[in-house]
Amino acid sequence: MAKRIDGKAIAAKVRAQVACTVAALAEKGVKPGLAVVIVGDDPASRTYVNNKKKACAEAGIYSEEYALPAQTTQRELMELVARLNEKRDIHGILVQSPLPKGLDEEAVVEAINPEKDVDAFHPSNVGRIMIGNYHFLPCTPAGVIELLRSEQIEIAGKNCVVIGRSNIVGKPMAMLLLHNNGTVTICHSKTKDLKEICKNADILVAAVGKPKFVTADMVKPGAVVIDVGMDRDENGKLCGDVDFANVEKIASYITPVPGGVGPMTIAMLLRNTVTAAKRQCGIVE
Ligand code: NAP
Repeated sequence: MAKRIDGKAIAAKVRAQVACTVAALAEKGVKPGLAVVIVGDDPASRTYVNNKKKACAEAGIYSEEYALPAQTTQRELMELVARLNEKRDIHGILVQSPLPKGLDEEAVVEAINPEKDVDAFHPSNVGRIMIGNYHFLPCTPAGVIELLRSEQIEIAGKNCVVIGRSNIVGKPMAMLLLHNNGTVTICHSKTKDLKEICKNADILVAAVGKPKFVTADMVKPGAVVIDVGMDRDENGKLCGDVDFANVEKIASYITPVPGGVGPMTIAMLLRNTVTAAKRQCGIVE
């Protein structure tokens, strides 16, 4: 039976560390600030934004919410980002995705000052990650690495398979595993022999967005299985990309959904916000 990696507990530790750093920064007169922009009334986005604000408050990070109506124009949104780029008390800017149809998300991300890009989605930060000289890491993949590190799971030399190649999860996930000396294979919807490739993985990361997509016959006995998915099963219940009940029986480690990768994403966002504040205030790490 696999050991369940307790993302909630590990995230709580990271958040406590962040709170300590925030307290130390306060003595230097620095209060990290995060602006969260939400456009429209997508209920899932609203929940994410509320959770982020609450986590900021708990860690002592100042946060501002900008809730804009779904009819907001590209120009209005770009103007807001430009204003936030100039705001001295704001060190991190997060624009909650997805944006309503008609708004150009890529242009918005590119308009964010890379020093305030705490999601690490700006092309300049993405490029930095590619060459391994980065200040911020995208929150979800960074959270996965933190989970592996917390459990002292060695990445170097391991066969790592990432299912999914999105810009926010799959691609940066693969890059971070590579930076940690894993031997990395990225799979996607056009991959042939997916099952065989997955069966060869020592570390298998699923970021597909399909409930219970990874079945036990795709997993090597003793593999570490990380489930990034946040899906709904046939009863509308939150579940991951992995058939947890069956894969748990053969993996060595597994992350549950909920309570695995999800809590780490917010914890890493807080950490990035503190890093951004330190950099903008000239405090060297
Ligand atoms: P996405 O942009 O939809 O990407 C999904 C990826 O899965 C694509 O690369 C796609 O391949 C691949 N894929 C789809 N069907 C496949 C198949 N049959 N075989 C192999 N690969 C297949 O999704 P995402 O934004 O990366 O998110 C993935 C999941 O993670 C979602 O459930 C999302 O909710 C969750 N998520 C969780 C967190 C968190 O904090 N826990 C954060 C972000 C995302 P193609 O490129 O060929 O289409």
